[in-house]
Amino acid sequence: MVFFDNASTTKVYPEVNEMLLYYNNIEYYNAGGLYKFATEISNKISFARHNILKMLGGKIGDNFVFTSGATEANNMVINFAKKFKKGKFLFSVGEHPSVYNTALEMRNLGYNVDFVKLDSSGKVDILDYESKLTSDVVFVSIMHVSNETGAINPIKKLCEIAKKVNKNIIFHSDGVQAVGKISVNLSQLGVDLYTISAHKIHGPKGVGGLYIKSGISIKPFIFGGGQENGLRSGTENVGGILAFDRALQISISHLDESYDKITLLKKQLLSNFENFDYNPKIVSSEDSSPYIVSFLCQNLRGETLLHKLDDCGFMVGNGSACSSKRKGNRILENMGYSDSEIEGALRVSFSFDNTIEEVDNFTKALNAVIIDYKKGTGR
Ligand code: PMP
Repeated sequence: MVFFDNASTTKVYPEVNEMLLYYNNIEYYNAGGLYKFATEISNKISFARHNILKMLGGKIGDNFVFTSGATEANNMVINFAKKFKKGKFLFSVGEHPSVYNTALEMRNLGYNVDFVKLDSSGKVDILDYESKLTSDVVFVSIMHVSNETGAINPIKKLCEIAKKVNKNIIFHSDGVQAVGKISVNLSQLGVDLYTISAHKIHGPKGVGGLYIKSGISIKPFIFGGGQENGLRSGTENVGGILAFDRALQISISHLDESYDKITLLKKQLLSNFENFDYNPKIVSSEDSSPYIVSFLCQNLRGETLLHKLDDCGFMVGNGSACSSKRKGNRILENMGYSDSEIEGALRVSFSFDNTIEEVDNFTKALNAVIIDYKKGTGR
């Protein structure tokens, strides 16, 4: 089987798997214990926190809190934002459901929530952003790289624009599809809060975290034994946290090499499409992250194609795995695609270990599946 759904999750690096085993079987102590082995574990967690902050370009005084994943980190952010009783909360329409649905919930609770449109390339529409960024805005959340289209938002610029309107605006970005794939320096970006997740960068599932810029005093969302300096209670996922740090180190140390290889895979896929009898419409723009290629097989059902491809040995996505049970696609709709185009949406997402040969075989399989499908439907 060929795995082309790496935006949904990735295979754990072998070395990281070994670490997980080690911390589950040998050094499996609770970091809260008072004996010396537990203290060592606690020190290792502090070291991992420090290391992650350093790799992401954090500064002295910045913090990083480990969570059960990006969904929790995003919920933690928005829960914190609710401390502003007045003012407007601005989100992009393109956010992952862990932000988008939490924003809708805020709106249901009576908060003043507004959404910024996307442009035709899937990025935040700057004019709409500027017009909605009124002086009463207290909080902004805009994702770095779209998990649906790979569109890269200009976070530094968006953050600067927001801070010019009101220097006290809290700016959050969901960086799950950016970190470990494109270069990220949080101090340069200027964000106050930034979410990441381990399983998108060949780390384990169930661990992620939130970067918190110095001076931002975020409130806990989960209460209990006071772990994570009181910010996130619950026994620490020791193996997961240490493996997360290692996975990030490995991904960042191969960042350029992987990026170049994946750029070639994207190019190959697009040039193969050009030789198709049936030409899919490419959603992902040229300047988007090469890790994600989203395209539309108009007048065909993407979900049917996905299952046929699965039978041929290729696993692809038809949008965010977390929202695949939902009908429609708010992101593609917002980018201006019609219902019949959106129905045929597919998403291929790469990892460093995919090959050109796999891309070629995939495009042949897709071509055959489409011909077969059209025969069956008479289209
Ligand atoms: N944000 C984005 C952009 C994502 O792609 C995902 C994973 N689909 C999440 C948040 C949620 O991450 P997690 O699985 O760690 O909760």
